[in-house]
Amino acid sequence: MRLSRYFMPVLKETPSEAQIASHRLMLRAGLIRQASAGIYSWLPMGYKVLRRLEQIVHEEQQKANHHPMLMPTIQSADLWRESGRYDDYGQEMLRITDRHDRDMLYGPTNEELITDIFRREVGSYKQLPLTLYHIQWKFRDEIRPRFGVMRGREFLMKDGYNFDLTKEDALHAYNRHMVTYLKTYERMGLQAIPMRADGGPIGGDYTHEFLVLADTGESEVFYDSAVTDLTLGDRVVDYDSVAECQAIMEEFTTPYARTDETHDEAIFAEVPEERRRSARGIEVGQIFYFGTKYSDALNATVQTPDGTNVPVHMGSHGIGVSRLVGALIEANHDENGIIWPEGVAPFPVAIVNLKQGGADTDRVCDELYGALTAAGLDPLYDDREERAGAKFATMDLIGCPWRITVGPRGLKEGKVELTSRRTGESEEMSPEAAIARLK
Ligand code: ATP
Ligand code: MG
Ligand code: MG
Ligand code: MG
Repeated sequence: MRLSRYFMPVLKETPSEAQIASHRLMLRAGLIRQASAGIYSWLPMGYKVLRRLEQIVHEEQQKANHHPMLMPTIQSADLWRESGRYDDYGQEMLRITDRHDRDMLYGPTNEELITDIFRREVGSYKQLPLTLYHIQWKFRDEIRPRFGVMRGREFLMKDGYNFDLTKEDALHAYNRHMVTYLKTYERMGLQAIPMRADGGPIGGDYTHEFLVLADTGESEVFYDSAVTDLTLGDRVVDYDSVAECQAIMEEFTTPYARTDETHDEAIFAEVPEERRRSARGIEVGQIFYFGTKYSDALNATVQTPDGTNVPVHMGSHGIGVSRLVGALIEANHDENGIIWPEGVAPFPVAIVNLKQGGADTDRVCDELYGALTAAGLDPLYDDREERAGAKFATMDLIGCPWRITVGPRGLKEGKVELTSRRTGESEEMSPEAAIARLK
């Protein structure tokens, strides 16, 4: 992308309404603009990051044989009356009346709708196990929308639902989701710690929230620092293996890690003192096994091998895709701007031309641009007529992991400069060497 032809409205001033770094930087770097309270437009570069996160979520879900689909944002109130949640959900639900006076709502989540699809289409245990998911906009009329996309009213969520014959099978689905989530966050360059959460009115031990540690997080968390040493790395997981998924779940949930809702001082006291931590965290996902709550209410049953009909065991599993953009920036920035992790950057590399209009600098920049594009690297070329200082400031603000600086002085020796946004370290090398390094 040539910056002169792109739409990237950066702001020099810090917007006064933004209280935390990610919100400020998302506005300043031109990723989002507020449409109304808690509702945002995603400008081209923000949208690019959002799509990138969606793609990672899709890939990791499909490795586990979870099937993507798409349900609508607007739902009929009837199903929610059947489950009893129409009244329970309260003011977070945006209720709408259509021209025929029918009660509709903008979906805050999809348990009812997916269970309705399931009960109409599936009748036999032979069609199980089944996990369906979608990535769709949700609306929750949050009492205090704030921190930009972190607590929006309209937000993008991946929500998945498993349908299983037995509790045992559903717990395998639970563990499988935990592993896919750990993989997903790791690929985004984030550490999200599974923490035992509160099962709410349904109760039970089978819910974990995934939290990214950050001072600006809204949750208070307590954990054994040993949990932060755990990673999956490039371990290849057989998602059909009950034992393997369970082992990983146990590995990641054995060290103490809980949110304030389930925190237990007595158990926490058993963690060696030097490893006890309390901090703030951002909830970027949650998994939940809730048994037959919705299948009972909506009569979603399957026929077992012996011919009886039983309600299916279900769980639901969510990732806050749009919130993750904010969480990523909270975890990866400095005073000059965003520092995107490699896997999620809108552009992996930026080319800065220090002498726009100079024959040599323009030629080398064009060659770099062509070669990087051909290598599938999607470079951003700052080809504006701007001072070097302004170009560097913009590049630091938008945070591409790598910058190649092309200037007349270096070119005399056939050199360009390759700079890491994260470390700030620069190295001079030939344009060919820079391309080879980035490939
Ligand atoms: P929170 O505790 O932050 O209100 P939640 O527990 O109500 O979140 P879930 O129902 O578990 O949310 O939804 C799954 C995920 O969707 C959350 O883990 C979070 O990452 C994301 N999410 C929830 N509410 C919002 C929101 N208002 N804005 C952005 N993302 C959200
Ligand atoms: Mg909430
Ligand atoms: Mg929560
Ligand atoms: Mg939650």
